[in-house]
Amino acid sequence: MYKLEMHLHTIHNSHCGQVEPVDIAREYADAGYNGIVVTNHFNRTDLFGYVAQQYGSRLNVMRDYMRDYYELKDECAKYGIDVFFGLEAAPDFCTYYKYSPPYGEILVYGITPEELLEYGYDILNFNKTELYDWAEKHGCLLVVAHPYRKICTELDYRYVHGIEISNLHPHQDSKNHKAEKVCDMLGLIPTGGSDYHFEGGARGGILLKRAPESEKDLVSILKGRDYEVIKEKWARRLTRQT
Ligand SMILES: [Zn+2]
Ligand SMILES: [Zn+2]
Repeated sequence: MYKLEMHLHTIHNSHCGQVEPVDIAREYADAGYNGIVVTNHFNRTDLFGYVAQQYGSRLNVMRDYMRDYYELKDECAKYGIDVFFGLEAAPDFCTYYKYSPPYGEILVYGITPEELLEYGYDILNFNKTELYDWAEKHGCLLVVAHPYRKICTELDYRYVHGIEISNLHPHQDSKNHKAEKVCDMLGLIPTGGSDYHFEGGARGGILLKRAPESEKDLVSILKGRDYEVIKEKWARRLTRQT
């Protein structure tokens, strides 16, 4: 079994992330993970209000947004853990930082660092159909993150591929059961992840039969639905402490 984290934030590239890549690598090694998909918040407010300030300039914000990803890749290599790139995107059409709904975040799998440099600004500007068309064209998968959290409004499921049915952030009520029901009903692709922000948070993800070779290969595994989602009942590590 290949244990893969699908939802993780780092300290310098998400305003809410609290852990350095070096410490994340150690924790995931201890927790028996084989891979991690880094999914830092990708919205205008985080990018220009947080990431740019970390590094003192907004000129290279797309590159700067990926600094922790590269650092985590190096740190995880020491333990034989693979690191893949991804986003937790809130383009302008669904960002929380505006006056009216929709409000939501979309995990983007399959995107490569090179594609982010090329299309990062487009992704911020896309509306729901443009984002979906772009994802289809580039072999990416759009998965609505924790759609039934209080802060979120329902996004248009016609323009996504999947739903995160098991978000194991310990301090958020993600209403995973509702997400799973809706995902089943619509026949969308289910995923799960820790929504890792702080130490001790590594508990979720998916279990695969083989290692993904790349971001695009991960998408084909997800589309083939040949994996299991880690749900609450298996995630004992942190519940014991709370
Ligand atoms: Zn966050
Ligand atoms: Zn998140």
